Amino acid sequence: MNISIELLRRYPWLPSLKNFYADFASKDPIEFIDDVFSKSSNEEIGRRLLKIFSTAFDRLEEIQDFKTDELNIYIYLIIKILLYIIDNKIITNRVANLYSKQAYNDLLNERDDANIYDICEDLALNFKYSDPPYQYGLIYNKDQIEILQTNFKIHFIDYLRLAANLHDDYRKLVHNALAEGYVFIDKKDLMRLIQEYVRKKLTIEDNRTDLDIQNFRNLIFKNSEFKALYDRILETWEVKKEEFEYSFEFKYDDKIDISESFPPCIKEILRRIEEGQNIIHIERLFLVFFLHALDYPRENILELFSRLPDFDSKIAEYQIDFAKKKEYTPHSCQTLKSLNLCMAQKYKDEICLEGYYSKKLDTKRVLSHPLFYFQFKQFKKSFKPKENMSIERNKNE
Ligand code: SF4
Repeated sequence: MNISIELLRRYPWLPSLKNFYADFASKDPIEFIDDVFSKSSNEEIGRRLLKIFSTAFDRLEEIQDFKTDELNIYIYLIIKILLYIIDNKIITNRVANLYSKQAYNDLLNERDDANIYDICEDLALNFKYSDPPYQYGLIYNKDQIEILQTNFKIHFIDYLRLAANLHDDYRKLVHNALAEGYVFIDKKDLMRLIQEYVRKKLTIEDNRTDLDIQNFRNLIFKNSEFKALYDRILETWEVKKEEFEYSFEFKYDDKIDISESFPPCIKEILRRIEEGQNIIHIERLFLVFFLHALDYPRENILELFSRLPDFDSKIAEYQIDFAKKKEYTPHSCQTLKSLNLCMAQKYKDEICLEGYYSKKLDTKRVLSHPLFYFQFKQFKKSFKPKENMSIERNKNE
């Protein structure tokens, strides 16, 4: 298989990496790290890696200024080494989701079908390509007829293998056109399957033991620059992890109106939906994560989304179910501020602007999460006002 070096730089997870970069593949990982960190580009590599990890910790979906040059190959391999020694499932999943999403976006931007063809070949997929496209169905819509067509079809065994962890109804084999063992698949769905392949490459666990990992850490930490990078990543995680470990229990009751306890950032999104305005993707995600955390019924969230001008029930259902399944927590105040979604100033909200009292610390704390806001408001509602109102922020505080 002849895949171009440019494609490998863009997609270093392709199997051909081991042919082009046989010197890497055969190298001991410790030697590899020493080599990479002795090059003049080591600072650039460290900077980019830190950015990938902190973007994943912030649960953003795109790596800003992501470069697909030669260094991208080193970066991919070092991510794998870092995930191995960090040995934290949440971090691994975060990074794998982000990195595979980046690959998906880059694949969608491929203009030339020949590149997609080469990638599928390199992945040893059993697929067929046709130009002009295969026509595999008709959709009758009032007086119009839409022809369903695609350039790609993939053998059902490979389809099932790649789609095994994707549980959306419309991906089930019975909902897809199939002929002579091949599933007709549009390019976007094919890219989604490849995204899943990339995600698995970063998440698959081997039979490692804690002792194996510790021994490997001891050896690899002899490289002080690599150790410093590892420490910085974990420091960043320490600052962010509260958001991930935050647990919140609230039982939704449709007879009680809780909207008064919503923070300004949520109120603003709901106000715009009420006015029939559109909201951007990240606002949709934040709203879904927030309402899920409050145990809002799926139908109520769907009803809210149905008021959006570009409402598409299939996409909305997918987003809602996906967020529920992954149990994502809503974004923190810091992340919302960086995305310009914090509405504290606009609503001149005292809790958001000035903070609140923590029961155990008995000092004023800066608000760090929209769910703390909700919790505090609910607490205030359930007790008669007293001086030094406070909340139990979480059991570890
Ligand atoms: S401070 Fe936090 S809770 Fe308040 S509006 Fe800003 S992001 Fe929302």
